[in-house]
Amino acid sequence: MNEIDILNKLASNLTERKSVAALSNYDVLCNNILFSHDLLNKGLNYLKHIVSELKSTLENDDSLRCDYQSGNDRNSFSLIVPSLLSNDLEAINKLFLQTAPDNRDGIDENNVGELHKGFVDYNNLVTATRQFIDSLVTDAYQLQMLDPKEFNYHALLSLNSFDKYATKSIRQGLFNDEVEDSLSEFKQLGFRDWKNSNITKCQHINFANKVDYLFSELNHLAPEDDSFKDEIKNLFKFSSEFTHIGYISTFFTSQSGSQPIFGSEQGPYLPSTENFSELKYQILESCINFIFRVYAPSIKKCTTKMVLDDRSNSIIGNIDNLITMLEHDIKTRNNNYFFFVCSSLIGSQNVIELPCICNHVNYWKPPHNNSDLFCMGCGSSYNIMGMEGDPGYIITNNGPVKVIGSNVPDFQDLPLNEQQELLKKMAEFSANSN
Ligand SMILES: [Zn+2]
Repeated sequence: MNEIDILNKLASNLTERKSVAALSNYDVLCNNILFSHDLLNKGLNYLKHIVSELKSTLENDDSLRCDYQSGNDRNSFSLIVPSLLSNDLEAINKLFLQTAPDNRDGIDENNVGELHKGFVDYNNLVTATRQFIDSLVTDAYQLQMLDPKEFNYHALLSLNSFDKYATKSIRQGLFNDEVEDSLSEFKQLGFRDWKNSNITKCQHINFANKVDYLFSELNHLAPEDDSFKDEIKNLFKFSSEFTHIGYISTFFTSQSGSQPIFGSEQGPYLPSTENFSELKYQILESCINFIFRVYAPSIKKCTTKMVLDDRSNSIIGNIDNLITMLEHDIKTRNNNYFFFVCSSLIGSQNVIELPCICNHVNYWKPPHNNSDLFCMGCGSSYNIMGMEGDPGYIITNNGPVKVIGSNVPDFQDLPLNEQQELLKKMAEFSANSN
């Protein structure tokens, strides 16, 4: 192809919007967004508690390691760290406000247009994401470094930009002689020296370099984290496209094209609502993952560096609990579960009840199509194992489970002595078979 062929293809495909398709189940997305949005809120509140606990610990000289005590070189970090963390709480809160589930109360065929998501909605969501990921990466980097020159670079660069256009009253509220002196010292440096001078340093200039550094320093990370590292870098690039009003993102979000009205048990919705929710859920999942995989461990590392062991136990314990909560809860979404069902039920006229681990009960209706095998509550996929006859219970890694359709009560509904009897038989059986 030559340049004119490419130009023609772009012109014909990127000037008129195709009608959009809904590729996911909108009700499942709404449930998953509600769940992960609540989880983000829990995480945010837990983080607020951790930050205030850390702040009061850092105010107490007796809790600090020598370098960070009053009069020593790194003492300023006892003020800077809580301030960085407070900024991050704002960024997380903004993302929380932009990721609420759609409100479908009172929506019918006549006002379904209210659910349409366009340029402003996408731009607000993705810009909040961009700010979240940018702030948390930059600050996690500072928390891990705790290096005076690295912090100076970060703060002076920001001050230098702010100074260019700030109004008189804003300047008055922020700039005093000490700040002016520091800034004029910075301005005397040549642009090339900013990242390595007698007062400033930045070893990892761009976003991707900082992400690489963070991941390399958190050595608990497993090989699958390599793909997560790419996910974070890709999220950054994707969100830059929106924030800078890139050609493609604006084109995609600003023209509505023809939108058929879709329907579910909860009422009607539009393809653009579903497309938007799909992105919203993916963003929530990536950002929650980022908090427990990278951000919280960075706070932990910083705490260990600054605070004496016997004074940091409670904070470290809380950070560990936060990590466990986020990691455990987000894993309950979009899983793969197995159900054991009597073969005679499958294809019969009976509705098969499939209670999910997320507590949602799904009803698999005749003719029992495989395409209906997923949870409306959490988006998990179901695999059905057909069992011949009336097998009763089956032993899984999680203990005995009733085969659905068997003529026995649920295992947990058995009297305690019968439960114990069954567990004993199970242990004997596994001892004999080893
Ligand atoms: Zn479920």
